[in-house]
Amino acid sequence: MKVPYVDFSGQYALEKRKLMAAIDKTLSGGEYILGRQVEDFEKELAALCGAKYALGVANGTDALVLILKALGIGPGDEVITAPNSFVASASCIALVGARPVFVDVKDNQLMDPAKLAKALTPRTKAIIPVHLTGKICDMEAINAFARKHKLHVIEDAAQAIGALRHGKAAGSFGIAATFSFHPLKNLNAAGDAGAVVTSDPALADKIRLLRNHGLKSRNEVVFWGYNSRLDSIQAAILQSRLKNLDKVIAARRRNADLYRKGLSGVVDCPKDERGCQDAYHLFVIQADRRDALQAHLQENGVSTGVHYPVPIHLQAPCKTLGCREGDFPDCERQSLRILSLPIHQYLKPAQIQHVIKSIKEFYR
Ligand SMILES: *Cc1c(COP(=O)(O)O)cnc(C)c1O
Repeated sequence: MKVPYVDFSGQYALEKRKLMAAIDKTLSGGEYILGRQVEDFEKELAALCGAKYALGVANGTDALVLILKALGIGPGDEVITAPNSFVASASCIALVGARPVFVDVKDNQLMDPAKLAKALTPRTKAIIPVHLTGKICDMEAINAFARKHKLHVIEDAAQAIGALRHGKAAGSFGIAATFSFHPLKNLNAAGDAGAVVTSDPALADKIRLLRNHGLKSRNEVVFWGYNSRLDSIQAAILQSRLKNLDKVIAARRRNADLYRKGLSGVVDCPKDERGCQDAYHLFVIQADRRDALQAHLQENGVSTGVHYPVPIHLQAPCKTLGCREGDFPDCERQSLRILSLPIHQYLKPAQIQHVIKSIKEFYR
């Protein structure tokens, strides 16, 4: 039996008629960048996140850069983030000229609020908690720390669209949040796409200009800006798929339950914190002899991933920041034990049982 990690062609086959109609409408309309189609999608996205504004941008990385820029963060400033994320959670900080500072993570792979005090300096301006795997960070503790020290909180919610924590949606906890609609994410475009959400009108206005060359009107530039706009065709695809997001998350949550039942006592599985609804962008187990397990699964037709095998603080650009092995022991230990199992919404229960059986076989 084959268990692929993703199934893009399966997704397309199911959605072909709807997507083609949405694309046809957009191409016929003649507006290809931003415009009405993007605004329609932005309204629905803002509503989903319980935020006042959403702004479509070119990708999730730009979304982070634009927020930092708009908040005036730059050279001489420090921003705290997690070391076990996709590189963009830290590169955005360096790209605006500020310094990324890392804090270690808890057993559930999320930023440990108890470690924030150690990372704080007079230069700290903001915290970027990462809702890794589709699980929302301990935002009550992170926000309390930020309020006390007058720091901005920017949620990197690239993996967490649709996730809830005590009834509040990912994207509604900080001054602003970012989403990625990369093809691998739970809400996916047919290419690169991303968004900023915020309820702060001044910040929204600034980012609206920053994403489009600082252009207030066709020929009036207010400040230097970027070209980081969302294409109308991607917005049309995203708006069509957004209607289905609840079902996507429900299917992933069902898959997660099957894994937890089948793997209890065999490997560590992620759990939902009480009152939280994870989006399960990833289902990451923590297991001994990870590399051998991954090879065994591959031999049995099961594709898996590792998110992420090299912590950001051990990547080449962090050498100049003085980062060293041993700086963040929990993150480093996890990086050797984490394995992302297939969790996508097109998996059949029999495929999940095959994964479970293959893992049990390995540890027998
Ligand atoms: C995917 C991702 C990003 C970057 O998004 P892009 O759209 O690929 O630029 C940032 N942070 C996290 C945690 C991600 O998973």
